[in-house]
Amino acid sequence: MKTALLLISLAALPAGAAPPLRALIIDGQNNHDWRRTTPVLKKILEDTGRFQVDVITTPAKGGDFSGFQPEFARYQVVISNYNDYPDGSKWPVPVQAAFERYVREGGGFVSYHAADNAFPEWPAFNLMIGIGGWMGRDEKAGPLWYFRDGKLVSDPSPGAAGAHGERKPFPLAIRDRAHPITRGLPPVWMHAADELYAKLRGPGERMTVLATAYSDPANAGTGRDEPMLLVVGFGKGRVFHTTLGHDVAAMECVGFITTFARGVEWAATGKVTLKVPADFPGAEGVSRRDLGAGAR
Ligand code: ZN
Repeated sequence: MKTALLLISLAALPAGAAPPLRALIIDGQNNHDWRRTTPVLKKILEDTGRFQVDVITTPAKGGDFSGFQPEFARYQVVISNYNDYPDGSKWPVPVQAAFERYVREGGGFVSYHAADNAFPEWPAFNLMIGIGGWMGRDEKAGPLWYFRDGKLVSDPSPGAAGAHGERKPFPLAIRDRAHPITRGLPPVWMHAADELYAKLRGPGERMTVLATAYSDPANAGTGRDEPMLLVVGFGKGRVFHTTLGHDVAAMECVGFITTFARGVEWAATGKVTLKVPADFPGAEGVSRRDLGAGAR
């Protein structure tokens, strides 16, 4: 009987298909609209056919976190859509320890948009994200990191971390065309209207910046090429950090959809099998898909 069941379940898989990668999204507190963005993240991943996605929603601010005990080891990758800005809940210390152990032992982690505002007081989290902003971060959190003359530089100048101007379309420049996440992407592509994060600070250890964008002083910017997509090593774990995706309108950019899905796959496995789609944007204009979320 067991054999028969096994045969039936195998028969349900398309021939040659790899089993789905298991991904966990954590949300529940954020100064952004996580109730609308988490289903979009989930849809982007599941539409690839590569992922099976679970969501764990924490209690609201001030709630009882004793039941928040994610079984991280069940997943190849954990995605944070969680941000305690400005005065939300910290994860309980045992959850922090379990998460550190999970990534250190080879688990994948993806920090999505404002997740990099969270937890300035948690050293391992800041090592994982490489750079972060807001929440009182200043030079004590680490130097500023940006591109100058084609190279990543760190800048110890004092000051607050985290800034952005109005949401507008802006071009991304790929800085590492050999990395599995960015391989095959056009060198410059237009991203849909989004916040362009700037003045991020952090330890920047084992960090590779894959793509930058010019933070225009005409839109309250720094005049620097700021990191947008990056990867970080933590123990044996892989971290993909995307600063993009403030809202559903920004997430409907095919550039966001593609880099997010590829980044999650890479964090989970160290490889990317997802192809660059034909509707990926070039330098000339934005390319978007309707994700059915009623964004606008
Ligand atoms: Zn935002």
